[in-house]
Amino acid sequence: MLRYGHRPVRDRRISTHLALVARAFGAHEAWFDEKDENIEKKIYQVNKTFGGSFAAKTGVNVPSTIKELKMKGFCIVHLTMYGIPLPQVIGEIRGKDKLLILVGGPKVPKYFYEVADYNVSITNQPHSEVAAIAVFLDWLYEGKEFGLKFEGGKIEIEPSCRGKRVKILR
Ligand code: SAM
Repeated sequence: MLRYGHRPVRDRRISTHLALVARAFGAHEAWFDEKDENIEKKIYQVNKTFGGSFAAKTGVNVPSTIKELKMKGFCIVHLTMYGIPLPQVIGEIRGKDKLLILVGGPKVPKYFYEVADYNVSITNQPHSEVAAIAVFLDWLYEGKEFGLKFEGGKIEIEPSCRGKRVKILR
């Protein structure tokens, strides 16, 4: 997932949430255009505690990254309220093996709409990049994210009806 338009300090909380949601819902990496080591550190700490190898990278050059991934055969999906409704295109998108999901911030350049192989809407109402990535990944994986394993962490949550049950692994 690549987020365009991250403003360090102002957007730190929402961009961190975006990375956490992408991680929990089965994406492999979250990239941001502006350098912000706080996001990278936060995700590193979450991996250390809860496992997995999800990477957050900041300071990414957006046009050259998109160009490079296109050349490597990635399918580019841009989440936007102006796009084609998710249910109409998710079947086709599931058939692609390498995906780059683009989400925007306050202003999205025209370039995103043109470079995308799919402009996809999660309803045609304005909401949030965090909600958009969550719903997109849930539909992409058809709920399989509930069974994801995050290896190598220090703790594991034991689901319970009431209270908090945590298994200490090491
Ligand atoms: N006004 C901005 C624009 O030019 O499109 C949208 C800002 S919105 C707060 C930030 C991001 O959330 C968008 O760039 C898009 O990636 C995502 N988003 C918001 N609503 C969406 C929707 N209905 N469907 C898909 N993505 C959405």
